[in-house]
Amino acid sequence: KNYTAQDIRQMAKEEHVEFLRLMFTDINGIIKNVEMPIDQLDKVLANEATLDGSSIDGFVRIEESDMLLYPDLSTWLVFPWGSEHGKVARLICDIHKADGSEFAGDPRNNLRRIVEEMHQAGFTKFNIGPEPEFFLFKMDEKGEPTLKLNDNGGYFDFEPIDLGENCRRDIVLELEKMGFEVEASHHEVAPGQHEIDFKYADALEAADNIQTFKLVVRTVARKHGLHATFMPKPLEGINGSGMHINMSLFNQQGNAFYDETTQNQLSKTAMYFLNGLLEHARGLTAINNPTVNSYKRLVPGFEAPVYVAWSGKNRSPLIRVPLSRGTGTRLEMRSVDPTANPYLAIAAILHCGLAGIKERNTPVEPVNRNIYQMSEAERHENKIYDLPSTLHNAIKELKKDSTVTQAMGEHLYKSFVDSREFEWDAYRQTVSSWEREQYLKRF
Ligand code: GLN
Ligand code: MG
Ligand code: MG
Ligand code: MG
Repeated sequence: KNYTAQDIRQMAKEEHVEFLRLMFTDINGIIKNVEMPIDQLDKVLANEATLDGSSIDGFVRIEESDMLLYPDLSTWLVFPWGSEHGKVARLICDIHKADGSEFAGDPRNNLRRIVEEMHQAGFTKFNIGPEPEFFLFKMDEKGEPTLKLNDNGGYFDFEPIDLGENCRRDIVLELEKMGFEVEASHHEVAPGQHEIDFKYADALEAADNIQTFKLVVRTVARKHGLHATFMPKPLEGINGSGMHINMSLFNQQGNAFYDETTQNQLSKTAMYFLNGLLEHARGLTAINNPTVNSYKRLVPGFEAPVYVAWSGKNRSPLIRVPLSRGTGTRLEMRSVDPTANPYLAIAAILHCGLAGIKERNTPVEPVNRNIYQMSEAERHENKIYDLPSTLHNAIKELKKDSTVTQAMGEHLYKSFVDSREFEWDAYRQTVSSWEREQYLKRF
């Protein structure tokens, strides 16, 4: 898909594209887009499309607000759903400053910087296979989401219980029209909860795919009268939605995580990388779980990780090593949720893994029992630490971890912390119905 400007002009004409969507992602992982009629294509291809950066969270102050959108031509895609005004195509863009230099506050530029770091370290690819989960809720007559689930299905249930299945099938079909290779799609453990896994891709493309995926899921669900949400824990008492990240590092020889000569067939590189993730797990949490609600998911009993540990067998730890070996050798990080900005999360995970490879430390022993059933003393003995339990604690851990902050660079780090502290501050001033139920009559 190495399209030239001429290819793009031709495809736009052949497919009768009427509108162009220039997409990018803000610091909070929200997809933004600027839409323009196709007659602006030449301007776009000349990197002359402008953007007022001051209106975007985490970008710039008013004084330096003129920014440029540089389209990444390899991301050209015509949306399969038409609009009454004609077809819409998108291009994912990098943000540049008015003088043409790369803008450091753009999470996509930042991920490219970390990928370059990986190339310097002798690796060719960081393959990411995400497992995003989401809920489907019914919408009311006004098109507002309700908390009514559309089915009572459970893990891998079949129809007729699983009414969300039609909607999910439609989502899969749309994704395939857009070039996604969907590997699995199933009902998740909770009622109304679904998961769709698509084929792994190299870091940057994987992050782009995650963003596109969310857009498609929401758009198709709406057509079924459903609201799709990637909120990590919409309902208490049942599982939340995660986005497990499967990852493997490649070099010229192949999968650098695989080594058939070792006892567990994981290479030293894999073990060092894994150790990097464990060492920085607490610092990474604010990035992988950036919302107040993220921490309502990271509690015992709902298949989400609570402790820093790894395992080849059990599914309760933070990092699992799936059974597959050879080219499929990979690590699965299970804490990440779908509110994470995928560009930031993948950059930070990669940077910490590479730091582990540089440090050459071997991780502690894997934990092959259910950590939820261990006492605090047992966990202590096995050197199993807790993940931060609130956004507030996670921000504190992030500030202490210079490896993670370096993975964002100064601009992103500053705006990220500002934005997360703002959210925490707003939250801690609210009084919840739980508190009123507990205290109003009792005191
Ligand atoms: N929903 C669980 C989570 O929060 C994962 C369940 C699963 O995929 N086995 O991470
Ligand atoms: Mg899964
Ligand atoms: Mg799942
Ligand atoms: Mg998984």
